[in-house]
Amino acid sequence: YRAKSTGTGVHVYDAVDDVDGAERLRVTEEIRTALTTDQLVLHYQPKVDLVDGRVRGVEALVRWQHPDRGLLPPVEFLGLVEELGLMRSLTDIVLRSALDQASRWRAAGRDLEVAVNLSASGLVDVDLPDRVDAILRERGLPPQVLQLEITEEFLMRDRERARSILARLRATGVQVALDDYGTGFSSLGYLRDLPLDELKLDRSFVAPMVDEPRAAAIVASTIGLAHSLGLRMVAEGIETREVFDALARLGCDQGQGYHMSRPVPAVELEAWLDARWSGGGVDGPRVLGVA
Ligand code: C2E
Ligand code: MG
Ligand code: MG
Ligand code: MG
Repeated sequence: YRAKSTGTGVHVYDAVDDVDGAERLRVTEEIRTALTTDQLVLHYQPKVDLVDGRVRGVEALVRWQHPDRGLLPPVEFLGLVEELGLMRSLTDIVLRSALDQASRWRAAGRDLEVAVNLSASGLVDVDLPDRVDAILRERGLPPQVLQLEITEEFLMRDRERARSILARLRATGVQVALDDYGTGFSSLGYLRDLPLDELKLDRSFVAPMVDEPRAAAIVASTIGLAHSLGLRMVAEGIETREVFDALARLGCDQGQGYHMSRPVPAVELEAWLDARWSGGGVDGPRVLGVA
């Protein structure tokens, strides 16, 4: 592995075959340290009900607070974590940290569901349902608090195994969402036979929907498809009020995006929630026009 320079002065760890051993060892050590010393931090992005503007839950998104390089987004390190065979550790850290946060929120009277992303390797891990169950029990949390977001890539690895692991997870009461929907392969086949609760439409369809009739047609029919299958429809990447309104008109259930809030640390999310619902209760003004 080597740190590759980009035009912006940002360094990206790049997996390469011709690295010298010392550099590989250094980066590997850095990642191992990150996984054992609280350098991984979670930011949270609200999932907003498009009908009444309420915040239903949050998605936990991992960042690496690197001692020298600042806050790194997942694209800079997840590939390397996967290649080093450390994704299972990362997943456990994220699950524990997200559910610790969910416990604190519940203790403070905030009932927020928390969604955690699983990498493509996660669903071939037969221990996952038991680990998830143990982490929930340790905290005394009902399984409905947790949502797991998977991608089609994850299902492609070993569909039968993925399906049985998903079924075990759902049997415990954990919810499962299919993330980045529309960007993978064989989507319809997966929808036919996989136990799911939610579809998250990829932002590449959402952002252009007010300008491109074809994108809008795909969004509208996907919402219809999700609802016919009894699935909740969530749109990613809502950056403008126009897109928010268009999705609400089409009957999309929930949305996430910079129009409402970027992913932020837990304390900032709390401040944002308090500012929006100044009474402190669950009812509040519609999110329309807030950003
Ligand atoms: P994702 O799960 O599809 O998450 C959505 C990504 O879109 C996030 O990027 C989020 O910051 C970004 N986003 C949200 N709203 C908007 C918007 O309105 N406009 C635009 N342009 N982007 C928006 P982020 O945080 O960089 O995460 C990227 C990906 O990394 C995630 O995509 C997910 O696949 C992966 N990831 C993040 N956290 C974890 C984790 O804890 N474990 C695993 N295995 N993967 C993770
Ligand atoms: Mg996600
Ligand atoms: Mg996504
Ligand atoms: Mg994505």
